Amino acid sequence: MRVFVLFVFLLLNARVVFSSQYVVLVSFDGFRWDYLERGLTPNLNRFANEGVRAISLQPVFPSGTFPNHCSIVTGLYPENHGIIGNNFRNPFDGTIYTIRDSNAVTDPRWYLGEAIWETARRQGLVTASFFWPSSELKLDWRHPNIFMKYDPRIPYKTRIDSVVSWLSLPFDKRPRFVTLYFEETDNRGHSFGPNSPQTDTAIMICDEIFGYLLEKIQSLPIKDSINIIVVSDHGMTELSKDKIINISEILKNVGVKVYSYGYLAFVNGVVDSVEKAFRILKQNENHFKVYRRSEMPKFYNFSNNPFIGDLVIIPEFGWSLSTDINDYVYRVKGNHGYDNYWMDMHGIFIAGGSSFKKGYRVGTIRNIDVYPLICRILNIMPRGNIDGKLENIEYILK
Ligand code: AMP
Ligand code: ZN
Ligand code: ZN
Repeated sequence: MRVFVLFVFLLLNARVVFSSQYVVLVSFDGFRWDYLERGLTPNLNRFANEGVRAISLQPVFPSGTFPNHCSIVTGLYPENHGIIGNNFRNPFDGTIYTIRDSNAVTDPRWYLGEAIWETARRQGLVTASFFWPSSELKLDWRHPNIFMKYDPRIPYKTRIDSVVSWLSLPFDKRPRFVTLYFEETDNRGHSFGPNSPQTDTAIMICDEIFGYLLEKIQSLPIKDSINIIVVSDHGMTELSKDKIINISEILKNVGVKVYSYGYLAFVNGVVDSVEKAFRILKQNENHFKVYRRSEMPKFYNFSNNPFIGDLVIIPEFGWSLSTDINDYVYRVKGNHGYDNYWMDMHGIFIAGGSSFKKGYRVGTIRNIDVYPLICRILNIMPRGNIDGKLENIEYILK
């Protein structure tokens, strides 16, 4: 009897050890879907051809960095996970969320969703992150077991070496879910535009670093259990200095506050002023559209959150909104944040490893479906009431 119990015990443990799948989630910030077509990315293309490659990964609106990284790890639209932009204001108490302030970025009160590392940790898995927007919350159970304070100066190879060392830890300490983040393509895309030689260089740097990651992972004893998912948060589009609309100019003397992000603007104020602003904007609705928050078109899924402006202004593709001549949009050559149905805003999705089909090309995937996908691979129960749906994406698994 005792021998039998011991045998069953060993068998169960062996199953736990050998059937465990690992997921390494890699983000190349601002890597547009069609950058893979430039003939600059042999490593990424080879990996894509051997595994799953979607035509594109559709971001959520607004197609910015923090809203999208949060949607990828929560399966929620920004109106539900709470990070509606890289910076925004709580109109009730005047506090400001901005990614430039590490106090705000690490304050758990802004983050309403449950990230995959929280889901996984609740169910006993170890998780780790070498950068991911929203991975540094100041509450024990809300960050990955291992996480790093964001510092863009840390070399890409150092990030990968750390991740590989974590994947070499003893079983009980080894993370089953790990993230990596690289900012190269976003930085160059903004400064020089998506069609510049500098952006081509950034694309090549990403590909080279991805080759390094693959090579390092190949040296691990658990290599056959590691699934790699490569995503980007959004794409990038070329800006033009003669496609800039000054919203403050249109609304001067109306007595409202205008917050412009270039690809989006909010108008806030007392009801009468806001209505007046709405009428004036409607009369001048040229190269942009204005909506009351409650009347935003459903397809944006950007309405049900009180931190969204009373009015929302969305420019035409490639046009920028501004409040004055010193705005960011006058200084950059590329931007994103626009309509998430526009292909210029779409990112990449490629995946490989034993959980995925081989040589499988598919259409556009929505980034909110990535959370339930990863839960499936890790064999954990996703959080209820999410916006993403496993059935939209499950077909890419074996
Ligand atoms: P944006 O292009 O404005 O949407 O934001 C991209 C910028 O976000 C990049 O240049 C990064 O430097 C910055 N960023 C990325 N991850 C983090 C993070 N975890 N904390 C703070 N800033 C970050
Ligand atoms: Zn980004
Ligand atoms: Zn950017």
